[in-house]
Amino acid sequence: MNEILELTINEMPRTEFDCSCGRRHNFSVQDMSIRKGAIEDLPKMAAPFKDGKILVVFDNNTYKVAGKKAVELLKENGFNIKELLFDTGDDILIPDETTLGRILQEQDLDCKLMIAVGSGVINDAVKFVTSRTKLPYIIVATAPSMDGYVADGAPIISQGYKYSPVAHLTYGLIGDTDILTTAPQDLIQAGFGDMVGKITAVADWDLAVKVIGEYRCDTCVELTNRAMDICFAKAEGLNHRDPESLGALLEALTLTGVAMALVNISRPASGAEHMLSHYWEMDYIARGLNPIHHGTQVGVATPVIARFFELMEDLLPEGTKELCPSPEEIRQLLAKGGAPSSPKEIGIDRELFRQSLLNGYNVRPRYSIMQFAKENGRLEEIAEQITREIYG
Ligand SMILES: [Zn+2]
Ligand SMILES: [Zn+2]
Repeated sequence: MNEILELTINEMPRTEFDCSCGRRHNFSVQDMSIRKGAIEDLPKMAAPFKDGKILVVFDNNTYKVAGKKAVELLKENGFNIKELLFDTGDDILIPDETTLGRILQEQDLDCKLMIAVGSGVINDAVKFVTSRTKLPYIIVATAPSMDGYVADGAPIISQGYKYSPVAHLTYGLIGDTDILTTAPQDLIQAGFGDMVGKITAVADWDLAVKVIGEYRCDTCVELTNRAMDICFAKAEGLNHRDPESLGALLEALTLTGVAMALVNISRPASGAEHMLSHYWEMDYIARGLNPIHHGTQVGVATPVIARFFELMEDLLPEGTKELCPSPEEIRQLLAKGGAPSSPKEIGIDRELFRQSLLNGYNVRPRYSIMQFAKENGRLEEIAEQITREIYG
């Protein structure tokens, strides 16, 4: 029972076990290599698809840091590959109709595998398209920027609206710590912010279990807690790109991905802090602005949600408040890892912030501390108070 808790991260692929939550879980990712020099494992990982064509997808930046090497390794080993470069210049690639359509157009009939070289958007876009065309894909991670590498959801944008349809799990993950050291600092901060968000995600899950009787898997909670411990212990090293800290961050993000994959929902890694982030992001997209990195938004939203837990303390079920540290402790943790800690600091304006507190609970049908405040008639008062505290 709960065998997965005995395994190291690279041993977790293809695990199936009976869990103390009463369900049988399986983690169907086939292969993972998170280590220094892991890119060398790519030909071995892709070997089962050697009889067909492989589409390798990257942008200008990810080509330089990993795509070039991936292509070389595959060619040296006799693979039949096709390359797709997103030449985005200074713009951020958006996972919308244009990007998804382009990948689909480049998928030849004899294509057997796609390899996504990148982090957030390239991963999501390749994940989504391959799920619909029923091809396996491998992700070569270029930044420890988010927890979606081994999750089956793919956040994409349709007609300006961001949503997260179920796609599928990756066949394999390459996380080379040497490549991660080339990641832009803002993406490292984003990954760290996404990890900090697990604090309130776990507290929110506890609340949902106690208030509306939602299902919970304690093995997944333990994986998420373990991930936070691994990452937070080495947070300081992220400021100077210490490879060990970056490896710990990717391992932590991957572990929470494993937790999500086991229960097929993002609950172990996403609560009200993610709803605020999605609310802000949709507003930015609607106004034609480049969105702020997902994890950076999640990070600054976390002390805000912790403040909700504080202000609702008198009504919380027993034991829930203990799961959520104070907003100040969370801000200090964010600062330790070099990440922004206030929505004001990343340019979220006062009115958008206030609106997100009032309406963010609606972004997805998931019980959270914001819904709890709403049901208890306290949402408006808390929204005004927190807005005042942050924006004056
Ligand atoms: Zn996230
Ligand atoms: Zn379970």
